[in-house]
Amino acid sequence: MQHFIVIGNPISHSKSPDLHHAFADSVGLDIRYQRQFCPDDAASFTAVVEAFFAGGGVGANVTLPFKEIAFNLCQTAGGLSDEAAAAGAVNTLMLRDGKLFGDNTDGRGLVADLRNQGVTLDGARVGIIGAGGATRGCILPLLAAGASITLFNRTDAKAAVMAADFAHERLQAQSFQTLSTAAVDVMINATSATTTGQALPLGEARADFAYDMMYGKASAFLAHFAAQGARTADGFGMLVQQAAASFTLWTGKPIDLQKVVLPF
Ligand code: NDP
Repeated sequence: MQHFIVIGNPISHSKSPDLHHAFADSVGLDIRYQRQFCPDDAASFTAVVEAFFAGGGVGANVTLPFKEIAFNLCQTAGGLSDEAAAAGAVNTLMLRDGKLFGDNTDGRGLVADLRNQGVTLDGARVGIIGAGGATRGCILPLLAAGASITLFNRTDAKAAVMAADFAHERLQAQSFQTLSTAAVDVMINATSATTTGQALPLGEARADFAYDMMYGKASAFLAHFAAQGARTADGFGMLVQQAAASFTLWTGKPIDLQKVVLPF
């Protein structure tokens, strides 16, 4: 039986074990996937990871607050996927050629969910509000899917730095003030404003499709675009798809979500 964990602090709320057991059932694999609490420091995280893989563990997910620590560990003691290197954060760990390997499946999860929702990304104008870790992780997969991206962030300088870091002709930052007059094909909320219940200054912003990475909460962001007749979706599908991408990376088994009985 293959053994997996998700490492976080706190961790008791994590849905990952239920999701991964549902994936395993759908492809006929017998797995054990457990929540692993870890004290909030790099030395403890390293010890947990080393003990897990030394004990024959196959794969680990990493969640708050350890994604950057996992990135640093892989950078010094192993390898990183292009997405993880660009994101500066790791959410999926495994061994490759006996060494620790870190990937970041958040962006792939977002792109897979957008496609699942019938959104065409090739040639699409995509606006992203927010310039935190989630945005950073989604930029490469969105560019690879053919989108042109405009970043809007409350702290303008952070969006400008992020655009400069990637230095890609289809990625630009615009001042937060211009969000209220933006017109794009797809607008993505990658801020924590929905979590805290704060309103974004959307003004007359328009989009054909709006996506809030947050899920499970009423979203003023989605309501703004729904009122214009835009199609909308929250980030639940991204959560499922990023987990499915980790599962496939570890087991080599693609997941057909039509065959997965989701536990919630
Ligand atoms: P970070 O803390 O790294 O970044 C937060 C961003 O939100 C910053 O750009 C910040 O702007 C902006 N922000 C916060 N409050 C406001 C506000 N009131 N008005 C405008 N901007 C605001 O968070 P992450 O990037 O890690 O995550 C962002 C969101 O995405 C979260 O809601 C998270 O839950 C969700 N997420 C969902 C996933 C999924 O699978 N569905 C996966 C990953 C993330 P500033 O720079 O000015 O402070």
